[in-house]
Amino acid sequence: MGRKLQAIRGMNDILPGQSSVWQYLEKTVAEVVNSYGYQQIRFPIVEHTELFKRGVGETTDIVEKEMYTFDDRNGESLTLRPEGTASCVRAADQAGLLFNQTQRLWYVGPMFRYERPQKGRYRQFHQIGVESFGMATPDIDAELIILSARLWKKLGLLQHVELQLNTIGVASAREAFKAALVEYLSDFKDQLDEDSRRRLVTNPLRILDSKDQSTQSVLANAPSLEDFIDEESQTHFERLKAILDANDVPYVINRNLVRGLDYYGKTVFEWVTTHLGAQATVCAGGRYDGLVEQLGGRTTPAVGFAMGIERLVLLLETLDLVPESAKDATDVFVVSLGDAAELKSFVVAEQLRDMNIGWSVLRQCGGGSFKKQMKKADNSGARFTLIIGEDEVATGVCQVKDMQTGEQESCGLQEIASYLQAKFDENLGLNL
Ligand code: ATP
Ligand code: MG
Repeated sequence: MGRKLQAIRGMNDILPGQSSVWQYLEKTVAEVVNSYGYQQIRFPIVEHTELFKRGVGETTDIVEKEMYTFDDRNGESLTLRPEGTASCVRAADQAGLLFNQTQRLWYVGPMFRYERPQKGRYRQFHQIGVESFGMATPDIDAELIILSARLWKKLGLLQHVELQLNTIGVASAREAFKAALVEYLSDFKDQLDEDSRRRLVTNPLRILDSKDQSTQSVLANAPSLEDFIDEESQTHFERLKAILDANDVPYVINRNLVRGLDYYGKTVFEWVTTHLGAQATVCAGGRYDGLVEQLGGRTTPAVGFAMGIERLVLLLETLDLVPESAKDATDVFVVSLGDAAELKSFVVAEQLRDMNIGWSVLRQCGGGSFKKQMKKADNSGARFTLIIGEDEVATGVCQVKDMQTGEQESCGLQEIASYLQAKFDENLGLNL
């Protein structure tokens, strides 16, 4: 026997049992985004490396050290997408969907970053992204945030996440702030952590993000971004807050929130939780009016966000918020004894599936003794088991066992579907 191969570090299999939680989350997201008129877009997992260098920014953590980049057989540099926004812009613009139009788009899929794997941080992870194009006014920023709040509400997460909000101004405001920040911090270089010292040259705004104690104490007296925000961004921010207030969406202003990607300007926001340790952000986004142009398109305002599926799944599981109905479960298990009954059991199982009401019907395959089959029925967690033997075929009647009460009743094979339907309805009534 050969040596067993393992998955790549930081890249996980989603196993049965877990996949139902993923489906529940993805289905809920699809319902919510549809209810706001967002349409799904799908784009490739691999793009030209250039797209992310230009789109995400050369001096960001992602491009500097996290991308999976390789040459294909033609010697062309390709990269596994580390995020979706740049690809979404590339795809939408390539199809002529952006200039002079409005678009509301969303996507879901795997992203790849070479990071240190830990709880809530993986090398292949999954994001759901929601992006809007062609709208410069703060009402669309608000719509996206309200949409995400609706999603948390639907998932039972609303009281477990906090919305952090900031404005980082237009590019010229950030440039002026950066210059002032660098000038101030240069005098305290030796008190900064290593990352921040490097960022002083490459990406000074990110220093505000530093978790390092010493860096944070130096920052306490640093110039404040708030004082550099331009009037247009300030007005935009005030209107956004007013719309959130009117919709009862609570937020906290976090003046140090800057986001790690270069394309953001004006609004930035994150939904954070206290339940996931250091990997606290479950959803993050903001406005990126400059990106389309930066990628070669015509100037198009845009705002969007992305959420991490793994972190949301962890959160739902940690808080025990996955509804029973979302978990994989067998409704009806069909047991048969003998060749004629086996043929009949196929017909009955198909009839139940024909009902098309979402029952999960499991037929015992491979035969076995009655005892063994009933044990499998038990293990399946089925609500009802149909028992079809030679006698039942001859009389046209089968046995239905209620697996919760252990009671067994006979039922005509013709009536089995309506019989079970009534039983399930009855049960539903009891549970409500
Ligand atoms: P972080 O600060 O946690 O590294 P980020 O700013 O790099 O996050 P974004 O690029 O904004 O994250 O991605 C949006 C969301 O995707 C994050 O808020 C998080 O929920 C999720 N995410 C990002 N990187 C990972 C990862 N390596 N593993 C799992 N989820 C991730
Ligand atoms: Mg990151």
